[in-house]
Amino acid sequence: MREHTAQERWRAARWIQALLPATLLACGIAAADANRYAQLRAAMLDAIRADYQDTALYIDKEHADPRVLAAMGRVPRHEFVAENLQARAYENRPLPIGHGQTISQPYIVAVMTDLLGVDADDRVLEVGTGSGYQAAVLAELVAQVYSLEIIEPLATRAEERLSRLGYANVTIRHGDGYYGWEQHAPFDAIVVTAAASHVPPPLIAQLKPGGRMVIPVGTRFLVQELLMVVKDAEGKVSTRQLLPVRFVPLTGGH
Ligand code: SAH
Repeated sequence: MREHTAQERWRAARWIQALLPATLLACGIAAADANRYAQLRAAMLDAIRADYQDTALYIDKEHADPRVLAAMGRVPRHEFVAENLQARAYENRPLPIGHGQTISQPYIVAVMTDLLGVDADDRVLEVGTGSGYQAAVLAELVAQVYSLEIIEPLATRAEERLSRLGYANVTIRHGDGYYGWEQHAPFDAIVVTAAASHVPPPLIAQLKPGGRMVIPVGTRFLVQELLMVVKDAEGKVSTRQLLPVRFVPLTGGH
C-alpha cells in the first residue's frame, strides 16, 4: 500500500473538519425535533382532555382512559402525515392523507379507542386503515390489530410505515371492510373509521359475545352519529347513539 502524502493527509483532515460541524448540527436538529414533537404531543393530550370535558354529556365520560392517552402520547403522529403537514400533525383536527381521505382528529381517535374498552390480550379489527395511525394507537394497547383498507396505495403505505416504526402486531390487508375479515374472526372489538349507512351485518357476526364495535353511521351529507354496538354474552346485540361526528364515507360494493 502506498504512503499518503502530507498533502493528502491535510486534505482528509480538512474534510473531517468541514463535515464534523454539519454532523453535530444534524444530531442537534434531530434532538430538537424530537423534543418539539414531544411538546406538541403533550399539548395534543391537553386538547383531548378539554374536549372530553365539553362532550362529557354525550359520551357519559368526563375523563379519557389514561392508558389511551398514554398510548397517544407515544405514537409519533407526525410520521403518519406528509412531510409538509408534519408541523401540524398534533393539532386537534383531521388532516388530509391523499386519495380524498383523512387521518381522524386526535380527540375522535381517543374517544373511539376509549369506548372499545380493550384489554392487553384482545384481537381488534379496524375497517379503514387510512394512514395507520388509529391502528398504531390500538397496537400500543392490544395483542393484535387487523386492519382493512379499500384504497390499495394507502394500505401499502400504511403497512410500510407501521413496519418501519416497529409495530409488529398490526396486519393490514387491501380489501372491502364491509365484509370484515372472516379468517381472523371473532374479534374482541371492531372499530370502523368511515361512515356507513347502516351497521354491516358481517361485522356484527364477527364480533365476539361480550365484544364492542364503535362505528359512525349516517349519510355523507347529513349528520352522522357515532354508535356503540354491544354484543352481550348471550349474543344479543344492542346499540347506543353517542356523538354527532363527520367521517369520510364507507365505500365498496355492498
Ligand atoms: N383510521 C384512519 C383514518 C381513516 S379515513 C387513520 O387513522 O388514518 C377512512 C378510511 O376508510 C379511508 O382510508 C378509506 O379509504 C377507508 N375506507 C372507506 N371505505 C372502506 C371499505 N369499505 N373498506 C375498507 N376501508 C374503507
